[in-house]
Amino acid sequence: MMSRTMTEALLPKRVDGKRLVDNNQQLIGIIDTNSLTRLSDAIVRGELPVECHLDFGRDQERFLVVTGHCSSRVVMTCQRCLQDVGIDIKGDFHLGLVLNDEQAKKLPRYLEPVEMDEKGYLDVYAAVEDEVLLCLPDFPMHEQGECQAFISDQGDNESADEFKRENPFEVLAQLKQK
Ligand SMILES: [Zn+2]
Repeated sequence: MMSRTMTEALLPKRVDGKRLVDNNQQLIGIIDTNSLTRLSDAIVRGELPVECHLDFGRDQERFLVVTGHCSSRVVMTCQRCLQDVGIDIKGDFHLGLVLNDEQAKKLPRYLEPVEMDEKGYLDVYAAVEDEVLLCLPDFPMHEQGECQAFISDQGDNESADEFKRENPFEVLAQLKQK
């Protein structure tokens, strides 16, 4: 019951990044896709809210780190048949919380810098939205067997093959006529 309530809780929009790091805090919750405007612009609609799991803490080198994953399911437009296609989103990320560019440059490569505001507050929604956007395919498409365009493409290919097969006889017939 407890974990169920936690899973369905809306994530806070803004958190005190440094405090959560010092408390080794874990945030588990959801974000409604409608509250993520850049994501909403990139998809047809969200089918499931974005589920997030965020672990705050310091790594061995004392960097402020958020390790997390997010998942969701959205509807995009198939680039082959232009119909709706459901896309499963799953992302893992390792963020390094920084206050400025200077700190961002010092982060090791495996940490993706995320800037907090000058008071050390983190925009959780923006950070998660960045990760979800990275998970979206550049060319969303159905599986081949499920795509209308592929099915009709295949039809075209078959007639093209028939054309090729018939063609030599036509050439032969033309030669005979001469
Ligand atoms: Zn399609």
